[in-house]
Amino acid sequence: MVFLNTVVEAQVPGGADYFDFPLRIAPKLNANFGEMRNNHFHMGLDIATESRENIPVYAPADGYVGRMKIELSGFGRAIYINHANGTTTLYAHMNRFLPEAEQYLKAQQYALQQWKTDLTLPPDLIPVKRGQLIGYSGNTGASQGPHVHFEIRDTQTESCINPLAYRFPLQDITPPDVIRLAFYDRDKSVYEQRPILVSLIKKNTGYVAGNIQLPFERAMVAIQATDRITGFQNPNGIYGASIHHAGRILSAFQLNNIGYDQTRALNGHIDYLSRFRGAPYYQMLFPPRAYRLNIYTGEGLSDHLEVPPAPEEFQIRVSDINGNISTVDFKLSGKLAVAEQQSPKQGMLIQPRQVNIYEDENIQFVFPEYTFYDNFYFQVRSIFAQTAAFLSSTFQALPEYIPVNNHFAIRIKPNRNMSLVDTGRVVIRRTYRTKTEVKKAVAEKGWFNASFRDFGFFQLIEDKEPPVLVSNLQKGMLIRQGFRIILKPSDNLHVISDVRLLVDDKWLLLQQSWNGYVYAVDENFPEGEHKLTAVVKDEVGNTTTRDWIVTRN
Ligand SMILES: [Zn+2]
Repeated sequence: MVFLNTVVEAQVPGGADYFDFPLRIAPKLNANFGEMRNNHFHMGLDIATESRENIPVYAPADGYVGRMKIELSGFGRAIYINHANGTTTLYAHMNRFLPEAEQYLKAQQYALQQWKTDLTLPPDLIPVKRGQLIGYSGNTGASQGPHVHFEIRDTQTESCINPLAYRFPLQDITPPDVIRLAFYDRDKSVYEQRPILVSLIKKNTGYVAGNIQLPFERAMVAIQATDRITGFQNPNGIYGASIHHAGRILSAFQLNNIGYDQTRALNGHIDYLSRFRGAPYYQMLFPPRAYRLNIYTGEGLSDHLEVPPAPEEFQIRVSDINGNISTVDFKLSGKLAVAEQQSPKQGMLIQPRQVNIYEDENIQFVFPEYTFYDNFYFQVRSIFAQTAAFLSSTFQALPEYIPVNNHFAIRIKPNRNMSLVDTGRVVIRRTYRTKTEVKKAVAEKGWFNASFRDFGFFQLIEDKEPPVLVSNLQKGMLIRQGFRIILKPSDNLHVISDVRLLVDDKWLLLQQSWNGYVYAVDENFPEGEHKLTAVVKDEVGNTTTRDWIVTRN
């Protein structure tokens, strides 16, 4: 028996019945659209595959293979199908694709001399019919276990559409679970306060919170809430929420369409500072001070509510996409604020809607408008370092918990004369906790320039060290069909930008895997005695070359 979910708004391209479910196993979602992840919204559905790989995936409607993307991390092996309704469906973390697609992919990889690829295909090359096999599920890329990551995008804008706006065979009559409310003083930065948390009591008809008194006049509200699909226990993301007072909607958000260029704006939708300190996600019902992600609506949309002097009733409604709603009723009033000890504010006041520039004699930060979501005081701490390779001290951008929406420029002045620096081999390295990021720096009027979009520790480094290469190849080796040649490059700054393997100067397809680069000997390696050459480069072009004479039998 197949249950159908009831869709609130069926205004999706092609109508709510346009797509079939792309798998023929019992549908189960490990994650839905809009679920909150580190620095992004989840942009599609994670379809469970019974903890197995190689489950067949079928075209959910007629179309053609429009794109294939192969990378070690991220989506791993991903295939995109373009449809006549102006949408593209995407299937990520896959194993093999349909044979025509695999053939085309390998030919292109050889033509472009690159395993890592992002191919756009013309419309009539590989057409697919509704229900036709398009590939097998897997666990490739940045995947935590076997599943299919499924997205529906607007083909033109590439903006992701909430896939559950289409009718798939998932019955859901379970309303969201609301765990608690969080209140904030709108007259302070969200980065300069801790929320007032209110737990909820579950009643038959919804949740209640009793009388809440707030020691400020203008408030913002956030909720901690998750949703479940009937019959499943795993928590997914909610679809939307709204706050109501005296018959009006004060503010609301809904997660319908989000583009990849906007997905980082999750950090402005949530209480980032609480999350940074280890709390769960609190989703803000009002938009932040500086925000460009279009998920908030309301009647005369405001970024706060006026706290009434005497108790008045408010209601929050939390919804899933199937129209199941949980209500939260509470009374709100003001109370006299206890005079707080204000900590002295040091640093440069950042005003998030405008350009902000920090500069001193050694470092500059240029933050474009809307780089941040709220005000804060920016500071730079420098930590002195003296080693020949280090061209500067280490600079830490503070406060460390500030989320960054857009790229910003950093300029660092080298601690020695430009004429003593190999300007083509300079990088800025960012480190934070376990993360390291290295960007090639551009010389400009006595400074070095690179762009980043996270805070952390920054340092200017001259890199003259070529990568190191380890391989299972030996001179004079006998090699047969299927033998796996493994190359393991490493680099002082942990960035390998290019690895190639050549037989008599002819390029061979190396597959990147989590423990190195692999070529399984195939028809592209001719019989007899040949020279194999491996070339490895780092981010500034330091190169290591090795060769071996081997015999293929
Ligand atoms: Zn996913």
